[in-house]
Amino acid sequence: MTRLVWYRNDLRLRHAGLRDALDSGERVRALYLLCPGQWDRHGVAPARRWYVLESLRELGQGLARRGVPLDVIDAGAFEHCPEVLEDYVQRHGIHSVHCSREYPLNEKRRDQAVAERMSALGVTLHGRDETVLVPPQALRTGQGTPYTVFTPYSRAWHRLLDQAPPLPEQPPRTRMPVTFPGEAVIDSALSQLRVPESVRSAWPPGEAAAQRRLTDFLQKGLPAYANRRDDPGKMGTSRLSAALSAGTLAPAEAWWRARQAADGSAGAAWINELAWRDFYRQIMALFPRLSRGEAFQSVDRMLTWETDEGLWRAWCEGRTGYPLVDAGMRQLTHQGWMHNRLRMVTAMFLSKHLMIDWRRGERFFMEHLVDGDFAANNGGWQWSASVGTDAVPYFRVFNPVRQSRRFDPSGHYIARYVPELAHLDADSIHEPWKTPMLAPDYPAPVVAHQGVRDRVAERFRRARQQLEKSHA
Ligand SMILES: Cc1cc2nc3c(=O)[nH]c(=O)nc-3n(C[C@H](O)[C@H](O)[C@H](O)COP(=O)(O)OP(=O)(O)OC[C@H]3O[C@@H](n4cnc5c(N)ncnc54)[C@H](O)[C@@H]3O)c2cc1C
Repeated sequence: MTRLVWYRNDLRLRHAGLRDALDSGERVRALYLLCPGQWDRHGVAPARRWYVLESLRELGQGLARRGVPLDVIDAGAFEHCPEVLEDYVQRHGIHSVHCSREYPLNEKRRDQAVAERMSALGVTLHGRDETVLVPPQALRTGQGTPYTVFTPYSRAWHRLLDQAPPLPEQPPRTRMPVTFPGEAVIDSALSQLRVPESVRSAWPPGEAAAQRRLTDFLQKGLPAYANRRDDPGKMGTSRLSAALSAGTLAPAEAWWRARQAADGSAGAAWINELAWRDFYRQIMALFPRLSRGEAFQSVDRMLTWETDEGLWRAWCEGRTGYPLVDAGMRQLTHQGWMHNRLRMVTAMFLSKHLMIDWRRGERFFMEHLVDGDFAANNGGWQWSASVGTDAVPYFRVFNPVRQSRRFDPSGHYIARYVPELAHLDADSIHEPWKTPMLAPDYPAPVVAHQGVRDRVAERFRRARQQLEKSHA
């Protein structure tokens, strides 16, 4: 009798499902279903595909040393997964499948269809909530409804974890080695990707690299995280988002080790970011309309968006004339990643200054981010556009110059990504249009900041009126 570990976004050896399967004493196989069609539909970035595939290769090698062969099958897209799995379990005499639950709509539909097939074959499916710290259904308000505001959610989240702390998994011991049958499929998929060295060197893939980065961050970054996290020039955050979203690092391990490293307030700010991660996952799970491109706030349906392609391209290419916005966008396209402060600034700039549909920006981020994660990306975009659960009020519009002076006062971050401004002093670098002769190659601002707040307020007012009329 054989058990199967079906890997998805949990690409690691420190894995409860793998432990359960091995503890049974039965033969164990592992499987990853490659779905390039799904990646294409959702515009998943080459950087993220590369990170996943290289992490999968390392996982396959580690599993082989533990006596577990990892197969990789190109299933095309999610709708073919049930059929491919049915064939696989029959060929290998599998009676139990272990996997981690996933919450976006397409993933839930895939898993429902797989569950039906497995049940018909008499195969048991063991799901675990390993991609989150607190499962989406676990927390409810006093009225029994889901939390849709972060602060009360996070209080309940912290309380629950304090009462029942999650424990990290250990990698299984080595056993009689076997071959790694899936490597050729990985090689073939990798050969079709073009990923620049600037991305490869910034995001070492795999579980071992994620462990090293976590250890390094906990020693050097965590004590100062609360003070440095908002300064994009200082690299004061963990840069573990790619690892957490592909599952080379388990959130339970991140939580547990942060608590060990900094008991009390030093780790609290960072652990709170893990709460944001779970918060957006529970919203994604409990409000499936978000997976269909709808916003949480219904006013979004009535908002009108601009379609100026010149402005859109200026934003994508980091040529808006606002140095901080442009530095963020260039970091994204150069490195496949952007600092959180910049994600908020650039997202708000697109959806409020340029009034371009936030869904276009959400897609553009996915097309470039190594950590592209549907729930976090969607949550961040809706927050920035003031149409989400915990939405910032629509009249709040970040002033890109004030943000620049406050969060990159020395201008180091801007200078790194906008070289045509690198020679400017720490004052002029934030507003180069005031000394155009010193930065002749840099564009003038594509829109004025002044008046944006009124324009946004007016659009929201009109949209609300229309919504009310449509309900009347
Ligand atoms: C418009 C927008 C789009 C975003 N898109 C993504 C995305 O596709 N993938 C992604 O992982 N994060 C996304 N975020 C959240 C956040 O920007 C990144 O998680 C963070 O910048 C990653 O850097 P880090 O690992 O150094 O974070 P740290 O500050 O070290 O935080 C630790 C971990 O907590 C989680 N986290 C931190 N902030 C958030 C948040 N606001 N929402 C959800 N989880 C969070 C991440 O897993 C992160 O790795 C987005 C935010 C915005 C505003």
